[in-house]
Amino acid sequence: MNVVRAKKHLGQHFLTDNTIAKKIADVLVLDRTDTVLEVGPGMGVLTRCLIERKVKDLSVIEIDPESIGYLEEKFSGLTIIEGDFLKYDLQNHSREPFAIIGNFPYNISSQIFFKALANRNKVIELAGMIQKEVAERICAGPGSKTYGILSVLLKVYYDIDYLFNVPPTVFNPQPRVNSAVIRMTRNNTEEPGCNEKLLTSVVKATFNQRRKMIRNSLRSAYPIGDAANKYLSRRPEQLSLEEFIELTNWVDEIVHN
Ligand code: SAH
Repeated sequence: MNVVRAKKHLGQHFLTDNTIAKKIADVLVLDRTDTVLEVGPGMGVLTRCLIERKVKDLSVIEIDPESIGYLEEKFSGLTIIEGDFLKYDLQNHSREPFAIIGNFPYNISSQIFFKALANRNKVIELAGMIQKEVAERICAGPGSKTYGILSVLLKVYYDIDYLFNVPPTVFNPQPRVNSAVIRMTRNNTEEPGCNEKLLTSVVKATFNQRRKMIRNSLRSAYPIGDAANKYLSRRPEQLSLEEFIELTNWVDEIVHN
């Protein structure tokens, strides 16, 4: 069987190490669902491990017709969805909540995480390999240079674990960056404890000018004037999620008065 020609614009870096593929497939907890959607199966290295793990309800979504042809030949009976994961309707994927896994295309990895967040009623866990720097950003806590929008907003609804690093040498072609595997699992939060849209705007408004004091970034977005709040003289990277929620409630009161 011919192999799939790696296409750079699709972020195709195929795993060549079965031990690592198995280690990634085993990262899913699957204690609350048997349904798994793999994003970007490529030539199916990870898919094979998921089948061996006896995942009950497995489907894969792949954008590359050449990969799809290859997978159809190699895995009879596998549910293959042809298309762009970013355009795929997760709400209608399955009636029950499900898990997402992948050795993700690195050019869209942040968007994959935001998409899971937007569909958090359905996405019970998400695990996969991404660029190490993005993994660090997602997992970072307050005080860290890489702490940012993704880290704060994902933490509202997901518990996040940084699991292990993967070197470029186990891929073909090798990526120019290091990789890491992370997992996020849905926590019990239904409501963040503040207006969620406003929280997103406050987090974005402050981190988009991360060196500025919060007072200055908020002033250009909300009519806070000279009102006082203990967080205003800090920088966004110093605030925990709980503090952002408190700050959001304070902004909310001003906006609605
Ligand atoms: N899982 C495979 C391939 C990883 S490379 C392995 O580990 O070897 C990333 C894969 O994602 C490629 O197969 C690429 O075609 C696919 N891909 C890229 N963008 C995509 C998108 N928007 N939706 C679905 N799949 C995508």
